Amino acid sequence: MAKICLCLTAKTLKRNLEILDKYRKYADMAELRVDYLEPDERLLIRRFPEQAGMPVILTIRRQIDGGQFVGGEGVRINLMARGLAFAETDRRRNFAFLDIEDDLNVPSLEEAAGTFGTRIIRSYHNARGTDANLIVKIRSMRHSGDEIAKVSVRANSTKDVLHLLKAGRECADQEKILISMGRYGTYSRILAEQFGSTISYTSAFAEEDAPPAAPGQVDVQELSKQYRFRGITKTTKVYGITGNPLKATSSPRFFNTVFELEAANAVYVPFPADSIIDFMEIANHLSLEGVSVTIPYKESVIPFLNSMTDEVQSIGACNTLILTPQGWKGANTDARGFSGSLLAFLDRENFKRQRVTVIGAGGAARAVVFELHRLGAKVLILNRTAHKAAQLAAPYKFAWGGLDERSIAKIEKYHDIIIQTTPAGMEGNDDSPDPLAFYNFSGREEVMDLVYHPKMTPLLKRASNAGCNVLNGYDMLIRQAQYQYAYFTGKEFPDHLVSRVRYGEI
Ligand code: NAP
Repeated sequence: MAKICLCLTAKTLKRNLEILDKYRKYADMAELRVDYLEPDERLLIRRFPEQAGMPVILTIRRQIDGGQFVGGEGVRINLMARGLAFAETDRRRNFAFLDIEDDLNVPSLEEAAGTFGTRIIRSYHNARGTDANLIVKIRSMRHSGDEIAKVSVRANSTKDVLHLLKAGRECADQEKILISMGRYGTYSRILAEQFGSTISYTSAFAEEDAPPAAPGQVDVQELSKQYRFRGITKTTKVYGITGNPLKATSSPRFFNTVFELEAANAVYVPFPADSIIDFMEIANHLSLEGVSVTIPYKESVIPFLNSMTDEVQSIGACNTLILTPQGWKGANTDARGFSGSLLAFLDRENFKRQRVTVIGAGGAARAVVFELHRLGAKVLILNRTAHKAAQLAAPYKFAWGGLDERSIAKIEKYHDIIIQTTPAGMEGNDDSPDPLAFYNFSGREEVMDLVYHPKMTPLLKRASNAGCNVLNGYDMLIRQAQYQYAYFTGKEFPDHLVSRVRYGEI
């Protein structure tokens, strides 16, 4: 089973030991990053493994490989030799591993390591990109069969992660460490077992004086607690969410908490992806069981479906993939999530006799308009690009318009409920955050914003100040996730968890 290695990057040995003690229960081993130590401290590393009380990797990473060491190679080799010197017969007092880059050829170090059972991690780093010849690298780096090949390369795209995954599969018979660095590759660290990597390197993000050792690392507590890393095996069912940029998503916390409470052998992982084509190949290689799909892939994922629900067919947007024996089935849980949330908020059973303005004509708007139609509302669709509003309105024979003051008179005829479905107002999306800034609320409108980060968008704040009842998208998110849970697992969302979800405990 893959092990969790806590990277220690503080400036002193004492501080590294404090950090190790604090997070000991989450880690199986530690990596002493000597390159982060102050120069005087580097001379005192020999006793560190004994003090650490767990297997320790000795690493002195050069700046060209993404580390902090700027001295000459002679000094670096000397420090490594110091770490190995006066080896003891009790192996727990020696470094368990020595990390040596594949271009560093020092037979005396290898010999010293070999004599007292320090295993060599033969490492290759590329902080700029992912090399084409990874299989050759993994196969040819080691100087002896006892060494572990480590390939740590930057993923600039989903294709890069796919390349590493495929290379790992080709070398399945060999012990190795594989890492896709950067945000596209974060899941290679969570799913180390599935990538065929024996170690996942992590850092303690809360310790400000010990910075993460590499881009894309996951915090040690998050890896251990949220993702239950130690429980992930080849038989664990893997689910996840894909989208781009996929920054603020609550779904992993939600699903992983429910899986833990239900004692399910399952994990839910974020898959940021710059290409839906490459992501679907990754999904197939990793045998994902189910996927939540978000911006911008709800429409572009449809050609990959082998079957779909009537809702996906009618809405033209899919936010849920379920693996079936016949291939990928697409569903849309946004629709029922939306109507369930808004009807509960209004204490209604349908939208009959309600005149509703919908802002936006993207993927979420399609699900909203479909449900409003199904449940009897009369609708006006307004969109920045007016012809898209017209396209969405046409099959339902709904009214439409552009998103500017020329539509004020129309809104006044459709103002029982106003629903904001665009990403405007979302955290990090600060240009024109209030898409309805030209409209003055009367105070009688019921206003819903599908955005839930932040809780109060500029539009909701303005509506609330005018006296309107307002609802954000969090309850919808939870409801649609509960439907996804049922699709993913074939079981209803557990009754005893419903109230905990409602009160925000999950
Ligand atoms: P999308 O397909 O990318 O949305 C595109 C739509 O937003 C288009 O109509 C676009 O107008 C419009 N738009 C984008 N930026 C705008 C701006 N600054 N001002 C005015 N209009 C703007 O995205 P989506 O999948 O529909 O999702 C939209 C939002 O709903 C996201 O924030 C998402 O997180 C949220 N959502 C929430 C839930 C939930 O459960 N609460 C579920 C689904 C979605 P143009 O056509 O002119 O480009």
